[in-house]
Amino acid sequence: MKTRGYAVQSPKSRLAPYDFDRRELRFNDVAIEILYCGVCHSDLHQARNDWGWSNYPLVPGHEIVGRVIDVAPQVKHYKVGDHVAVGCMVDSCMVCDQCRKGLEQLCREGNTQTYCGFDRITNEPTKGGYSKHIVVREDFVLRVPDGLALSRVAPLLCAGITTYSPLRTWNIGPGSRVGVIGLGGLGHMAVKLASALGASVTVVSRTPEKAVDAKELGADALLLSTDSAAMEKAASGFDLIIDTIPVRHDLNPYLPLLDVDGTIVLVGQVGPLAEPTTVPLIVGRRRIAGSPIGGIPETQELLDFCGRKNILPDCEMIRMDQINEAWERMERADVRYRFVIDMASLEVPA
Ligand SMILES: [Zn+2]
Ligand SMILES: [Zn+2]
Repeated sequence: MKTRGYAVQSPKSRLAPYDFDRRELRFNDVAIEILYCGVCHSDLHQARNDWGWSNYPLVPGHEIVGRVIDVAPQVKHYKVGDHVAVGCMVDSCMVCDQCRKGLEQLCREGNTQTYCGFDRITNEPTKGGYSKHIVVREDFVLRVPDGLALSRVAPLLCAGITTYSPLRTWNIGPGSRVGVIGLGGLGHMAVKLASALGASVTVVSRTPEKAVDAKELGADALLLSTDSAAMEKAASGFDLIIDTIPVRHDLNPYLPLLDVDGTIVLVGQVGPLAEPTTVPLIVGRRRIAGSPIGGIPETQELLDFCGRKNILPDCEMIRMDQINEAWERMERADVRYRFVIDMASLEVPA
């Protein structure tokens, strides 16, 4: 299938239109017309090869929402016209212990990333959602619940599940005390989801002006990380802190905020951190953990949960040709809170 996307050709180049083919349907494939694609900070990191495993031409995008336009004969759960979604992975081994538990994100062989990965059968590089169409194995296609505004669903597929999964892993619910560091794409979803799960939620920020936004998103309070008296008073006050900061930073100020057995879970920064002292870890049996996205069952659970509670990311819609400017703004954290590309703005030549 001929399609058009936007690609970068090298770590230094800008995104530009790029025509390419999607594969013919294999026996268990679903063909999707992409309607919307969220813009994730990882897209920028991968485009610039910040993590060292990028391949080019690189079509980013792993927050995909669309409509089924074709299904292979053996596809059971989807039909033409269904509203569906695809997140950060498009395949995994499906037979290892993790895959069998529905934790495909932790596949022993490594899951196949939606872009910058390699197809498990042909070994061709995978290409993401900054494009008009995608072909995905049925098991990695998700259903968008009826009633959710399609134009705002996309960021749930990465920012949403990346924050929902640790909330579920650490059994967050009524009575839980959750801190959220960083109020960007991930952070604003962490606040919405933790508060919808019944937790009391505090945004930890060095910007007092964020207090209004934090409350609007559902947080109970803002803790100013530059206010040492307030930080001291908040010590041992959290069961879970979700740290969404996407760059190298220092954990030491945050560790004492955890209660005994509390956990700070890193979901933003991929790479080195400033060195943490072990004192608060040993003294309070506190933990530092990391968490990627969730598995396919958990991602569907998130979509259904958001469908029931009508939880949606706050999005700013852009045209495909505004993407370079959007990336520049994302780097300056100048977005509330996630850009979503309206793929109708990208024309495919006949
Ligand atoms: Zn992402
Ligand atoms: Zn596996």
